[in-house]
Amino acid sequence: MMYNTAINPKELFKEAIRTVYPRKCPGCRDVILPNMLVCDDCAGRFKLVEPPFCMKCGRHVEDEETELCDDCAAKDHHYSMGFSAFVYDGIMRQAMADLKYASAAENADYFADITAKTCGERIKLFNPDVIIPVPIHRSRRAERGYNQAQLISDRLSDMFGIPAVNDLLLRTRKTAALKILDAAGRAENLKQAFSCDLKKYPRDEVSVRFGRVLLVDDIYTTGTTMECCTEALLDAGVEKVAVLSVAIGYNY
Ligand SMILES: [Zn+2]
Ligand SMILES: [Zn+2]
Repeated sequence: MMYNTAINPKELFKEAIRTVYPRKCPGCRDVILPNMLVCDDCAGRFKLVEPPFCMKCGRHVEDEETELCDDCAAKDHHYSMGFSAFVYDGIMRQAMADLKYASAAENADYFADITAKTCGERIKLFNPDVIIPVPIHRSRRAERGYNQAQLISDRLSDMFGIPAVNDLLLRTRKTAALKILDAAGRAENLKQAFSCDLKKYPRDEVSVRFGRVLLVDDIYTTGTTMECCTEALLDAGVEKVAVLSVAIGYNY
């Protein structure tokens, strides 16, 4: 896969910011050199998802004979396939929480870099037309300043030279605090949270321009969010969706 190495204005701006706010390691939060994405000590602490993979979601499974993880064996997903880079364990949980709640936007650079390295070949085989991040509600975006999934998908878009589209799939409803809902309530709540902007992108245009979508999110747990977004995209005229998550849980 070709990586686009040309320096763009966005990167120059980021460099300027880094001289004022030095880059920190996503693992230990110590200051690291501007050309590093993780410190040497922490590089080995982040666990990668090792093959064999679940044929559906991309989670690690015990052996080559196991085609699906327990979760995918128990329910249908409408996406075609899934890829994930990191195991969602303690250090990753903290680094992801920092990205979402502690303004550690730089963590997205490390996540995207490793995701491109570990999942790049499989993404290339899927051959997406566009990359679309799982959207967050605009009020949440306003308080956080960014959508963490979009930071990652924008960077992947630059590296792979595949366009990112951020205004087709929308989060039109804010979901209730998920902890107070059971699994069924959560699924129903989420299902109604996503829709596509069909005024801006009519169905026939979607099916021509966005036939194959790579949907990007930070964490894959039950797959419900990915599934709801996939259904909204398929309804809008997309032909195939592959889901890419930065981190995924073990097969329990
Ligand atoms: Zn570190
Ligand atoms: Zn699976």
